[in-house]
Amino acid sequence: MDIIERYLEEVLVANETTNLTRIVSRESAEILHIEDSLSGLNYINEAPGGPYVDLGTGGGFPGVPLAVKTGRDTLLVDSVKKKTAIIQGIVDKLGISNVSTYAGRIEDLGREMPSHFAVATARALSQLPSLMELASPLLFEGGLLICYKSHLSDEERNHALSLEDKLGLKCIHEDTFTLSDGETTRCMFVMQKFKDAEVKLPRKTGLAQKRPLK
Ligand code: SAM
Repeated sequence: MDIIERYLEEVLVANETTNLTRIVSRESAEILHIEDSLSGLNYINEAPGGPYVDLGTGGGFPGVPLAVKTGRDTLLVDSVKKKTAIIQGIVDKLGISNVSTYAGRIEDLGREMPSHFAVATARALSQLPSLMELASPLLFEGGLLICYKSHLSDEERNHALSLEDKLGLKCIHEDTFTLSDGETTRCMFVMQKFKDAEVKLPRKTGLAQKRPLK
């Protein structure tokens, strides 16, 4: 069993006592966690060299599979300490030495490590305008934000595109495909940082998700 499979197995066992993921069957998790996470590999490989951050990592997806495959220094961020503590314990046990965790808000990380990362991912976290606002301060110029969306409405897409200049992120890929279960649709929305945001970021904690920029 490879290291990613072993990681998944540990997460599913831990999930019996702590809520890390709603996907409990091994068969579904193979597709919805491992295959889906790794569908971001081609995009992450386009990013410049440097550290990688997974925003709102939950049970460590897509962060851990992408960290293992790319070997990048990886930080998994989640505001729920119980989750990051479990994930840290599992990566330590498996000797995945390029992965560490940050228990806290993404906005606080943005204050502590501005322009530090070459790539950020976000799956099942927020709408695109919020993701752009949260990720922009963390990325250095040229860095990529890879958003895993299940469905993208015209309204959400257009709102995101209208914020490109304000947040310094430009869409470079928008791809939709189906996973191997034949039914799960994945939309990848990939943005590149081309300048610093025109507004001071991070705003007050919580605002990016509660009151997205217009
Ligand atoms: N990315 C994982 C996945 O796709 O399986 C987990 C998705 S889960 C629905 C969203 C996670 O984001 C939760 O664990 C939540 O605690 C975390 N989260 C939401 N907003 C956050 C913020 N502003 N800073 C840090 N973590 C946040």
